Amino acid sequence: MTKGEIVQQPNSRFLKVKCLDCENEQIIFGNASTEVKCLKCDKVLAKPVGGKTKLQPIAREVETLQ
Ligand SMILES: [Zn+2]
Repeated sequence: MTKGEIVQQPNSRFLKVKCLDCENEQIIFGNASTEVKCLKCDKVLAKPVGGKTKLQPIAREVETLQ
């Protein structure tokens, strides 16, 4: 069983991020056009920068979901 080529989908991926302030984990869109806030403590976890979602220092990426 071999692994095929890596499929890159830069415009349609989701990130599982963890809020370092309250330890809430949530799924965010990797290409969001608006700020993403923590569902639990309402802090801003990510902001849109140049069409991509830039995580803030308070948020840590746990895993990338395809
Ligand atoms: Zn939080």
